[in-house]
Amino acid sequence: MIKVKDLHVYYGVIEAVKGVSFEVPEGKIISLIGSNGAGKTSTLNALLNRVKRKGEVIFSGFHTDKHKTHTLVQHGIALVPEGRRVFINLTVEENLRMGAFNNDENYEHLKEAMFELFPRIKEKRHQMGGTLSGGEQQMLAISRALMSEPKVLMLDEPSLGLAPKVIGEVFATIERLKKEGITILLVEQNAFAALKISDYAYVMENGHIVMEDVAASLVGNDEVRKKYLGG
Ligand code: ATP
Repeated sequence: MIKVKDLHVYYGVIEAVKGVSFEVPEGKIISLIGSNGAGKTSTLNALLNRVKRKGEVIFSGFHTDKHKTHTLVQHGIALVPEGRRVFINLTVEENLRMGAFNNDENYEHLKEAMFELFPRIKEKRHQMGGTLSGGEQQMLAISRALMSEPKVLMLDEPSLGLAPKVIGEVFATIERLKKEGITILLVEQNAFAALKISDYAYVMENGHIVMEDVAASLVGNDEVRKKYLGG
């Protein structure tokens, strides 16, 4: 579904991603794991042309190079950004409407689907985004991204700062979305939880992919356990 070849990301003279290649096959959960500053967020942003990049990103045969972020969203890639970034001064419903910017005709139907997926979001639908708990904001951020009816959903650190119970709910939701046919690209510091639900994963370090394997094998790999899974 997504093929990335020799991707580089630059912030001025800093090269944050130094030639990574990977694939995200349709219907799978693929994870990028690795320590702080490895280049995971930059890679996700590069797939939506949110940062300056070189290399090839092909999405279902469509070369994304020269396209703006909103065009790529219309083609079916959506991002749940790090830190959630819900609109704090808009209500839950207004946040959802923003997510459906390219999809207004399906707004009501999709909104009901989101309320079914996250009943807690329905309860709070008239509340301002900024007044939700961290877990509720994460659910809202995921719902907002789903309002564009993506084929691929990218999630950047969805578990960051959440209580363990809520983290469980977020990962269960990601698995459910996979079952519903959405392809997932996941970036996580919580490598163990990510690998548990992933089909395949790439390990990033210092702008490079240094290891890749089926997720179950990475969990059993001594080096990965020591460096990324806390022994
Ligand atoms: P984290 O989990 O901490 O977000 P990461 O693996 O997602 O880490 P990135 O956020 O992609 O890593 O950062 C990769 C490198 O690029 C880091 O060295 C970071 O300092 C640098 N970087 C990221 N954003 C910018 C920016 N806007 N300007 C300059 N350097 C940046």
